[in-house]
Formats: sequence, C-alpha cells, structure tokens
Amino acid sequence: MSNPTPILEAERLSKHFRLRGGAVVRAVEDVSFVVYEGETFGLVGESGSGKSTLGRTLIRLYEPTSGRVRFLGEDVHRLRGPALRRFHRQMQMIFQDPYASLNPRMTVADIVAEGIDIHGLARSKKERMERVYALLETVGLLPEHAGRFPHEFSGGQRQRIGIARALAVEPKLVIADEPISALDVSIQAQVVNLLKKLQQEKKLTYLFIAHDLSMVRYISDRIGVMYLGQLVELAGSDEIYARPLHPYTQALLSAVPIPDPAKERTRERIVLAGDIPSPINPPSGCRFRTRCPHAMDVCAAQVPEWKEVEPGHHVACHLY
Ligand code: SF4
Repeated sequence: MSNPTPILEAERLSKHFRLRGGAVVRAVEDVSFVVYEGETFGLVGESGSGKSTLGRTLIRLYEPTSGRVRFLGEDVHRLRGPALRRFHRQMQMIFQDPYASLNPRMTVADIVAEGIDIHGLARSKKERMERVYALLETVGLLPEHAGRFPHEFSGGQRQRIGIARALAVEPKLVIADEPISALDVSIQAQVVNLLKKLQQEKKLTYLFIAHDLSMVRYISDRIGVMYLGQLVELAGSDEIYARPLHPYTQALLSAVPIPDPAKERTRERIVLAGDIPSPINPPSGCRFRTRCPHAMDVCAAQVPEWKEVEPGHHVACHLY
C-alpha cells in the first residue's frame, strides 16, 4: 500500500473491569496498533484473549481505563455532539451471533433502516424503502425479505442482514467481531467473499476479529495476534504465515490444517500446555510464559518490549 493513511489508532490502550469483591480483570493491557484506510486488519486470539473487549473499546461501547483511540485523527472518547454522531455513522460493527444481534420483533426492513432513521438519511418513506431494497440486494437478499422477521432466516442470511444494517449508514470502517464463527463451514466462505466484494465496491476498511488463523489469512492484509489482553505479534499476513516469530503465533499456526495431505501428515504440531491463565491475576513478565516452550528466567522478571524486528513486523518476546 503506497502512503497508507491511518484511519484508526489504538495508543497504549487498556481496559480493566472491576468485579464485585474488588478483583480487577485486565482484559486489555497496553495495546498499540494502527489500522490504515482500505486495509483489512485481522485481530486473532483464543477466547479470553481480550480481542472482543478491544473491539468494543475501539467503537466506544466501553470507556478505556487508560490510553487513547483515534479515528481519523480525533480522540474517539472525547467526541461530543455532531462529531460523535458522525463517528457513530462512520464506524459500524458486525456481531458474532446473527441470532442474538437482530431484534426478533423487528422486520428486516426496520432492522436495516434503523441507522437510516437515526441519522435522518432518507427524505421520505419511499426513499427509505428504496435504500433498504438496494442494501438487501447488495448483500444477496431479495426485496420480498424486507417484510419478514429474523427467525425466518438461516444463520448465513441473518449475518447478511447484519451486514446490510451496518452498511446502511455508509461507514468508513467496519469492526467484524467473529462474523463467521457461528456459521456452518460451508457458509463461512460465502460471507467472507461477500465482505471482500463489499470492501472493494465501497472502499471499506475492516477490523476483522477471529479466533483462528485459517480464514483470517484469506481476508487480511495484516494480522495482529493477541494473548491474554496483549498484542504479541503484528505483521503482514503473508509474512506472519511464512515467518511467525512469537512462540504463541507459532503454536496457533501449527494447528491450522495444510491443504496438502503429504505435508499435513508430516508437519509438527505445537501443543500448548494448560489453559489460558485468568486475566485477573496474569503471570508476571511475559504473560505467555506459563505455556511457552522457550520460557527463560528473564521471561518471569521482565515484560518483553514491543519491538519492530523487520520493517512492519513487530513482536513482544525476549527471544528477539
Ligand atoms: Fe516465551 Fe519468554 Fe518469549 Fe514469552 S518472552 S514468548 S516466555 S520466550
């Protein structure tokens, strides 16, 4: 990408939650990265890695505990009045569960038109419905679907409705929070292909959140890997697959199936010991050290620095 323009910047962003009884969940800790206009930035991590909390903090569903989010150069959590309304239009979210995220009592037309109504984007009822029909067509649904209710659709179709709803307000950036993980494998590729097509047509930027690396590679220009609330590695997607540096990324990649059966039989799988620790009391130093096959004494004593080891390839690990 020549002269990429930053659209979204997370700067030393942390989000903690205080539980009843006083314990603090450090869901996101000191995360910094930039998403550039027109790209797809894949954010990968196991459940409990903080990736969804991060996504929700970026879109202002949560206030950050510390750090900053900038969208088109403006501090998102300081926006008020018309600037805040503009932000709510320009950044949209597609949710993981297409069953829970659509109001079962609303028709598809009303779901899709919600943002159009809130932001006053249609001058008449006729124009509103024309927009709804056009959006349905864009996502591969039919005009006659407009009067139906969410329960009348399959999971893949519901996700298309969620996508139409997000696109209705003509956003610049869409945060897709595990948009395909609740869908059948056969449907996943269709939804990803739709997202890719829409990106080209509408010049969208995506932050694509996922828990496995297989589909993310296909859609992402760059990939960030999260572990227990922190970003541990970030690189171009081809680079991260060819040369994963962080032991956690190496383990995640070793679990991705290879289409070549001969290679698939002989490849080495890295099986991590134990479960992801609790973000209430994360390990000292490197948070991955309790499961890392290369852990050294320094890993318990010092938090590894976030370093750029090659142009555009960042990693937080004492091995580098
Ligand atoms: Fe493993 Fe140490 Fe690197 Fe952490 S810093 S990933 S424990 S080698």
